[in-house]
Amino acid sequence: MQLEVKTVLNRIQHFVGFVYQDIRMRNHQGQLQVEVTLEAHRGIDAKCSECRRPAPGYDRLPERRWLFVPLWGIATWFRYAPRRVACPQHGVVVEHIPWSQGKRPITTTMMGFLARWARHLSWRQTARAFHTSWEAVYRSVEWFVQWGLAHRKLEGVQSIGVDEIHWGKGKRADNFLTVIYQIDSHCRRLLWVGRRRTQTTLRRGLAALGTEVVSGLRFVCSDMWQPYLKVIAAKASQAIHVVDRFHIAMHLNQALDQVRRAESGRLHGRPLAKRLKKMRWHLLKRRSRVRGKARQKLDALLASKLATARAWNLKETFDYIWHYKSVIWAGAFLDYWCGLAVRSRLAPMKKVARMLRKHEELLLNWFRAKGEVSSGAVEGLNNKIRVVTRRSYGFRTYDAMEIALYHTLGRLPEPESPHKFC
Ligand SMILES: [Zn+2]
Repeated sequence: MQLEVKTVLNRIQHFVGFVYQDIRMRNHQGQLQVEVTLEAHRGIDAKCSECRRPAPGYDRLPERRWLFVPLWGIATWFRYAPRRVACPQHGVVVEHIPWSQGKRPITTTMMGFLARWARHLSWRQTARAFHTSWEAVYRSVEWFVQWGLAHRKLEGVQSIGVDEIHWGKGKRADNFLTVIYQIDSHCRRLLWVGRRRTQTTLRRGLAALGTEVVSGLRFVCSDMWQPYLKVIAAKASQAIHVVDRFHIAMHLNQALDQVRRAESGRLHGRPLAKRLKKMRWHLLKRRSRVRGKARQKLDALLASKLATARAWNLKETFDYIWHYKSVIWAGAFLDYWCGLAVRSRLAPMKKVARMLRKHEELLLNWFRAKGEVSSGAVEGLNNKIRVVTRRSYGFRTYDAMEIALYHTLGRLPEPESPHKFC
């Protein structure tokens, strides 16, 4: 049997009410192209694009072209002149075209194809690999994500993590994003992302999830960031609000780093200053992770009477709190540690102690949650977000980046297609 392209198309992508008329290869400005002309099936009425019900024909619009999946690396286009119908309910409207989505000049099949590839390649690479434009990839991912958001299910969300992410250059309010993750053990995904990190942002985010989801939450995990604390207390008071473990480690590390910086400034030019040189990253790691020569240097530093050594000890001591199972014992340890920090005469450490005291209940909620909140989930998702935002120098706009985040981290359902092109 001789194989015709038409046979392949009918097998993998048959549209009821339409037929593949003819298929030609032509030279378009020095580039090979395949053109697939479609015709309406004579015996089947066109459907109204609003209600999808058959309606009498009205007239014909000029021919349009839609990009299809390339055939052996040759750009392939659909050609079709859409009809308009006179729908009893919607008046004169364009017919429903099953391969088309609004005004986009790309078939839905090709949009799905590009969007799937755009998970593995950058948008620019995807565009180059399939001989199309960055814009076409963007519009395809956008359609894919919008479909996914409209069809995703939010039932059964029990735990969420709320966090802020820095984006781009500078520290302006616009350089921060608020993210809401689902952090249940059976499903971890990005639920929502919005500009800035204000109360308004988080209110918008929770509203987007809907009251049903918010009122069903059992655990909310966040940093001690005042605007978030306020909104969570107001909107999800039934949930146990937990301060994430990794945020506390982050605050302790920042305090340690401030102590180190101030001290190396004070010691500048003196022999002791050598002890602190190039030690920044070793100090922020756990001692057991530092090996070889660096470990010797770290141990010498820690044995010294330097303020940095005392700050490091406080940070390392705090870690012991996570061994406790009981809220009471954890609370007693917190008191003990805060006492040490206050007596340390290290201003940044005292500041952390004050903050932990102020939010003691949220911190102890970690122990009340009895291991039901995963400590690594928010941190892990944050790291994945950074991979996307860093790759994002191609994203000139916030909107494009937002779409890329939902696309890679949202675990969104995908529009179904009868044939898997990739
Ligand atoms: Zn209609």
